[in-house]
Amino acid sequence: MSIEVKNISKRYGSQLALDNVSFSIKEGEIVGFLGPNGAGKSTMMKILTGYIQASEGEVFVNDLNLHISKNEAQKNIGYLPEHNPLYLDMYVKEYLLFNARIHKIPKSNIEKIIDKVGLTNESHKKISQLSKGYRQRVGLAASLLHNPNVVILDEPTTGLDPNQLLEIRNLIKEIGKEKTVLFSTHIMQEVEAVCDRVIIINKGKIIADELLKDLKENQEQLIEVEFDFKIEKQFIEKIPNLKIANNSYDTTWELTFSTKVDMRSAVFDFAKDNGLKTLKLNAKNKNLESLFRELTT
Ligand code: ADP
Ligand code: MG
Repeated sequence: MSIEVKNISKRYGSQLALDNVSFSIKEGEIVGFLGPNGAGKSTMMKILTGYIQASEGEVFVNDLNLHISKNEAQKNIGYLPEHNPLYLDMYVKEYLLFNARIHKIPKSNIEKIIDKVGLTNESHKKISQLSKGYRQRVGLAASLLHNPNVVILDEPTTGLDPNQLLEIRNLIKEIGKEKTVLFSTHIMQEVEAVCDRVIIINKGKIIADELLKDLKENQEQLIEVEFDFKIEKQFIEKIPNLKIANNSYDTTWELTFSTKVDMRSAVFDFAKDNGLKTLKLNAKNKNLESLFRELTT
């Protein structure tokens, strides 16, 4: 396993920021760590990278116990912290050289990394002159200098404009071809665009851990229908495959089906067979976004 988190809890004073968190990530996976602000994402990432210690539990990176073999384990980990702390007065290349020196990394790695993150034309510039997107590239470059095989990125796309966002997403996907990547975000679309798998955290607890393809397949179907008459719930429950019938307004119903087959014609037939007129009929497929909202509210 690239990453193994076993029963991690973290207390800040009396506050429980992580509550018995466990998950593992196989080599080569790109995993999105999704949760609203304050969920515990950064705390988990700081523990995973050895910056802070857990109150309870164990973490392994490439099968090395982070608590026991921290230095050895950290050689395998690239980390881009939240808010990407950079020395703005330094030139791009100078900053990366400086980082290489403190980590005793051969200078020869730097050109390769600069090229890989698309900084070749900016490498002579001061970091303060760069846009947010290019600053993120500098942070990514710094996290990759020692050629780690596990990369941990804390909200790498927050605050980027749409173009920069696409570029950084693509870069993360590119990095993910060679390395195990765990990146945090509070935006569901981010996960859909980049990941194989999503781990959802809320209030310090893992509430979902799924492959994206399974999430998409297990989608429920939501149909909104309006009839011309008010009807009883028992009556509407005769429609096959119906999981939940919610009388959202007067003669309007929100029907949840646990099937991928389009149920609109079945709803229409139900109305016709029972002498009702269908005034409105909408399929509203539940996407990951609504699932995430459901899970976190
Ligand atoms: P996220 O990254 O998902 O937004 P964090 O891990 O930063 O969440 O925070 C989780 C919870 O722990 C929050 O309630 C936050 O206020 C609290 N917290 C984080 N860091 C500290 C700290 N150093 N001291 C006290 N509380 C903290
Ligand atoms: Mg955070």
